Amino acid sequence: MNWKNILLTSVLIATTLYNCKPHTELKISNNTGKKTFISQEEGEQDLQILAQYKNKEDAWIYFDGMWADIGTNITNNSVSKSNSTILNAIPEDVLSSITIHEYHTHPGNEFINNTPPGPSDYKSLAENKKFLRAQRNVNVVGNVVTATGVWTYDLTRHLTYKLTSPQEQLQKKVSSQLSEQTFYLAGRVFTNPDLNKEEQIQSFIDSMKVEGVLMQYKPFEKN
Ligand SMILES: [Zn+2]
Repeated sequence: MNWKNILLTSVLIATTLYNCKPHTELKISNNTGKKTFISQEEGEQDLQILAQYKNKEDAWIYFDGMWADIGTNITNNSVSKSNSTILNAIPEDVLSSITIHEYHTHPGNEFINNTPPGPSDYKSLAENKKFLRAQRNVNVVGNVVTATGVWTYDLTRHLTYKLTSPQEQLQKKVSSQLSEQTFYLAGRVFTNPDLNKEEQIQSFIDSMKVEGVLMQYKPFEKN
């Protein structure tokens, strides 16, 4: 190896190390099917790091001190949360009073975006809710972790019913209405110069409630 190769190799190593941010070791597992036993707060902190530094989405469920990675078909802007993968992670004797928290990341750094859950997220939550209510008698809520905070979302019974209706026409109609409305509201609210950031978020949440999507937003504390 001549000096040029040595130099090139060192640059490559340095670049790789630099790109390997974060340097903090994650506690949460991001291998599908793997379980991690840490608090909800600790898990959310790990997901914030993943949303900041990893440009692929992934998904987990959390309940009772346990995180299980349930994400499959991972891409830059989507992740599948299949009923069967979730079911495998929940014991048969789970208490019906337990709420299962679904989590997935929307990657992006804090200067680019804080993307809230969207229409495909509502549809997938509706399907998981219907299935897990029938199989394990538990309730499911959704959470999206971005670089700056956590969006928690749930659906009214009526919207859940319509999004999973056996009448395909109704299901399609409601899905597309909800999709149009979400993008319309997001576009109108998040670019409104008369509102500050908190007011934009609150206005979006209030408008989505009318559509049957119940949301909350919890910003991460600035480090
Ligand atoms: Zn999503």
